Amino acid sequence: MTAGHWDAVLTSLDDAAALSGVDPAIHAVLRVPERVLEVAVPVRMDDGSVEVFAGWRVHHNTTRGPGKGGIRFHPDIDAEEVSALAAAMTFKTAICGLPFGGAKGGVRCDPSKLSLTELERLTRRYTWEILPLLGPDKDVPAPDVNTDDRVMAWLMDTVSLAHGQLVTTSVTGKPLALGGTVGHAGATSSGVLACVRSAFTELELPIAGSRAAVQGFGKVGGPLVFLLQSAGMRVVAVSDVRGAVYNPGGLDAFDLADHHRATGTVAGFPGGEAIDPEELFAVEAELLVPAALAGAIDEATAERLGARVVVEAANGPTTTRADDVLGRRGIVVVPDILANAGGVTTSYFEWAQNRQGYAWDEELVAERLRRTMDGAFRSVWARAEALGVSLRRAAYALAVERMAEAITARGIFP
Ligand code: NAD
Repeated sequence: MTAGHWDAVLTSLDDAAALSGVDPAIHAVLRVPERVLEVAVPVRMDDGSVEVFAGWRVHHNTTRGPGKGGIRFHPDIDAEEVSALAAAMTFKTAICGLPFGGAKGGVRCDPSKLSLTELERLTRRYTWEILPLLGPDKDVPAPDVNTDDRVMAWLMDTVSLAHGQLVTTSVTGKPLALGGTVGHAGATSSGVLACVRSAFTELELPIAGSRAAVQGFGKVGGPLVFLLQSAGMRVVAVSDVRGAVYNPGGLDAFDLADHHRATGTVAGFPGGEAIDPEELFAVEAELLVPAALAGAIDEATAERLGARVVVEAANGPTTTRADDVLGRRGIVVVPDILANAGGVTTSYFEWAQNRQGYAWDEELVAERLRRTMDGAFRSVWARAEALGVSLRRAAYALAVERMAEAITARGIFP
């Protein structure tokens, strides 16, 4: 699965380089990560034993600014997966015009098996090991799968202690009490909603009454279900790692959230019938949002996909072959590097506020996020129309052109 994600990034990149006719030297630069740091993370477990975890921090490209990208704690990650995610950050920040490069990090572990104190020790030791790469003008991490504001607070504290002073600009997605921004929680979901609105407007589909299926009910999928319902959509199916629920009349977002809070899963929600999580993709709907992990939509799934529009909240949810199938079937896909950029955009706002030493209010954050997402969507849509290609191919072409401009301007040292 993981090698497939990196391959998918390279396939998209190669295609974009050909489409936009960039200098082959720049194409070659973008085909490899700038630096890959692999670290051993020894952690004293609560029973006194020591476990050694593997961790990575990858800079894919930092030509346009400091590395930016989340930190993932997951049993399935490896250097290739982290590199694929880092590359996606390079393209995402370029598409949204954010002054950042692409980075990503992670530790191979199962956080559900760690106690809170073990998780803290793991986070701090991992931070310590990747410290040479970090800094407000070098690399600014953020949360990703299985990491949250608490983990970011530990990370910031570790960096700050190492520097002998508080460095709020060293990480985003922090708690509000430590210089986090209003609107960070739910920012990715808001960006996804902005893309749903733009896509539906372009396709002349009504939002009100349209049906949506959402895979994943975490930091992105959870708030998104609320936002879709608030926008007037009927969320008919939701899944998570433990199961899926379906109700053609619509699942109630509030009741579902209560159930999830009480049980830790959407499975068993009494407001809908249980379905196999794989069936979620076949559910007849106007919209499908994959908001879980990479590789969720393969060729077979794409063949029986029941939605008209796919907006990729997750990173790399569609395999290359599946993408071809969706294209052939006329299913419009808003690609991850555009659709889920709301999180990194708001991370940029947090970093900017910390640098300014001046906190923005919620309206300003929301308004600037909407403007950034709408602008990015318009640029990608216009490029797709001009080139006569899919939104994914257009998004990558746009990103590669912006990267080429920046790399050419800086030149290849020495
Ligand atoms: P999360 O850990 O909070 O939630 C992940 C969700 O996916 C959980 O509900 C989990 O149960 C579910 N899931 C896992 N495996 C599944 C499976 N096989 N079938 C169905 N559901 C499954 O993670 P998140 O932060 O919500 O991230 C989700 C995706 O969005 C990831 O691909 C991540 O890289 C991407 N993303 C997240 C952000 C962000 O701001 N958090 C920003 C950009 C992209």
